[in-house]
Amino acid sequence: MNRFDVVVIGAGIAGASIAAEIAPHLSVLLAEAEDMPGYHTTGRSAAFREECYGGPDVVPLTLASGDYLRDGGFLTPRAGLYIAREGQEAALAAFMHQFRDAGVTIQPLGRAQLEARLPGVRGEWTQALLQPNCADIDVGGLHQHYLALAKRGGAELRVRHRLEAAEREGDAWRLHFGAAGEVRADVVVNAAGAWADPVASACGVAPLGITPYRRTVAQLRTDPPAPAELPLVIDLEGAFYFRPEHGKLWLSPHDETPSEPCDAAPEELDIALAIDRFEQVVDWRIAAVERKWAGLRSFAPDRLPVYGYDAEVTGFFWFAGQGGYGIQTAPAAARLAAQLLTHTPRHGMTAELDVKLYTPARFAPVMV
Ligand SMILES: Cc1cc2nc3c(=O)[nH]c(=O)nc-3n(C[C@H](O)[C@H](O)[C@H](O)COP(=O)(O)OP(=O)(O)OC[C@H]3O[C@@H](n4cnc5c(N)ncnc54)[C@H](O)[C@@H]3O)c2cc1C
Repeated sequence: MNRFDVVVIGAGIAGASIAAEIAPHLSVLLAEAEDMPGYHTTGRSAAFREECYGGPDVVPLTLASGDYLRDGGFLTPRAGLYIAREGQEAALAAFMHQFRDAGVTIQPLGRAQLEARLPGVRGEWTQALLQPNCADIDVGGLHQHYLALAKRGGAELRVRHRLEAAEREGDAWRLHFGAAGEVRADVVVNAAGAWADPVASACGVAPLGITPYRRTVAQLRTDPPAPAELPLVIDLEGAFYFRPEHGKLWLSPHDETPSEPCDAAPEELDIALAIDRFEQVVDWRIAAVERKWAGLRSFAPDRLPVYGYDAEVTGFFWFAGQGGYGIQTAPAAARLAAQLLTHTPRHGMTAELDVKLYTPARFAPVMV
């Protein structure tokens, strides 16, 4: 039977990035249930780095990841633009207040500046907040980069390896992958995205209440075509966002429907909702819905990610609950998790992070 220091369950961005960080130091198996890594949430994102996304306690992870993403060539600058109607001054002020000490750049814009950024915007939208330091992310490139780094470090990737059960055997784990066989490992890293709680249960670990929520995106052809320099436009009230992608428009109704872990598919109603909301923003004509997809964003009960050893069960490490920001936070999250996993003092991009915010020990286990 194969024996590894660490088995990472799930080869999305979370599993790939943590495997890359630890592979030079430990023997690592990266086990992925599907035929290819990135099939689930990682392959279905909106591919954007929005500095405020996830709230003030996620911002440090996003900012700490910035240089890694920029230096690696994974970012293409694009502003973020929160738009608001007349009468929403208090909500705009509250948003700015919430992020006042977060280290992000936010600039209020009036109607004329909003019109310059979003041609054809309807009259009821009178104000906005501009975030100049946001960017598109090359998600495929980043994911491949981490998979390659993991491989170079000596990690082994095995696809069609779905963890079915695991138990402690002496001072290690025995992991069962059905017909694909068994392995032994000192540590299990749970990077299973929407399946984080079921994977914990399969290991005899109490789940933390990590819940998957479906989010939908449609790719539209519009008249006029979406200008290349258009910002990512987000509704301040959270009813939609859209951004250009190679002359097309990616539009989401910002839906958040609780779901079982599954191969998520878009619902027609969510697409219709998105289009209806979009038509209330600009006077553009929608020529075609070219493509649509949905993915699962998984959140812990307090909507912060979970990084660290389980409080009860030896050798079980959580790297889950990446919500709607798992790509933009991946470099700092993976570095931090690797340091926690290997009991290495924190330095460099993780030095300023408050690890207590993300520890699994903050939750009482969910009774099932
Ligand atoms: C529509 C949408 C838009 C988004 N937009 C953005 C964005 O603009 N910016 C951003 O930063 N983030 C965004 N996100 C969030 C981001 O995509 C996620 O946070 C991130 O992809 C989560 O990565 P993951 O590796 O945890 O999950 P996944 O990519 O789902 O990977 C988990 C893997 O675990 C595997 N697995 C599960 N169970 C087992 C098992 N028992 N055995 C073996 N393998 C198993 C699965 O097959 C899967 O491949 C978006 C998400 C969605 C859905």
